[in-house]
Amino acid sequence: MKLELRQLGASTWYVPGRVNVGYYEEEGQGYLIDSGLDDDQGRRLLNLLKAERGVPLRAIVNTHSNADHVGANAFIQKRTDCEVWATRIEAALTECTMLEPLFLWGAFPFPQIRGKFVEARPSRAGFIENEGPIRDTRLEAVPLPGHFLDMIGVRTPDDVLFLADSLFDPAVLRRYRFMVMLDVRRGHETLNWIENERAAWYVPCHAPASQDVRELVRQNREALTWLTESVWTAISVPGSREDVLARIGGDAALGLEMDAAHLLLNLCSVGAHLTALAEAGRAEPYVEGGRLLWRRREPAG
Ligand SMILES: [Zn+2]
Repeated sequence: MKLELRQLGASTWYVPGRVNVGYYEEEGQGYLIDSGLDDDQGRRLLNLLKAERGVPLRAIVNTHSNADHVGANAFIQKRTDCEVWATRIEAALTECTMLEPLFLWGAFPFPQIRGKFVEARPSRAGFIENEGPIRDTRLEAVPLPGHFLDMIGVRTPDDVLFLADSLFDPAVLRRYRFMVMLDVRRGHETLNWIENERAAWYVPCHAPASQDVRELVRQNREALTWLTESVWTAISVPGSREDVLARIGGDAALGLEMDAAHLLLNLCSVGAHLTALAEAGRAEPYVEGGRLLWRRREPAG
């Protein structure tokens, strides 16, 4: 796909793609909001910016550290010497990208989960806060908890709101079912916040830019609730986290195709929904026969 810049405000553009990348200019300097998956994407982005805008790139603001958002940082930073800014924990994972497969597996990762979709090339990153002005620019960070560790959105002064991975396109929801979600309760809070937040344009990374996202918020909330209830249904017979995934994802109707990395990501989502059920007093873990199992909790009284 040929990359193109689409203008959304006086100083704000985005580059539609597998991951929508934001672009903003202030005082003759450019800023990227996320970078994309790999060197090839980085090269194509830089060529596009050089041809269309021709101003020096000061920084990449990363919304979070998933490989499809930070994977082109290394190439772009090497070519332009730009800075990379992210919240503290996301910056740590951007600098030490091996932490992502490690976090998926809970130990040093095996080679099959160290591909570029999980483990990006590392880049040097500096910290920003998850809320308020971003350094000395007129960009503003907004916290978008739920999907990952300390994900942010970015609001530009011309009223474009970049929403990272807080909202997915319905086609993505249908295809994957288990959107990566580490904290279900806070994911709902983020959806509620977006629903009431006005902006001229909203730009999720995995859905088209739009002037109204309320329907998209509704679909994402429904998908999240569907998964919580599917997990609840799956533990009507006690089972492990893997059993729960197999009971839901093994359903032929879902047609999920998973490699090891994808399966581990889905296990994170199942785990997050089990946590949400445990917090709500609807499920509890116990250890039996060397396995961590989950069962429904009898209502008190
Ligand atoms: Zn993403």
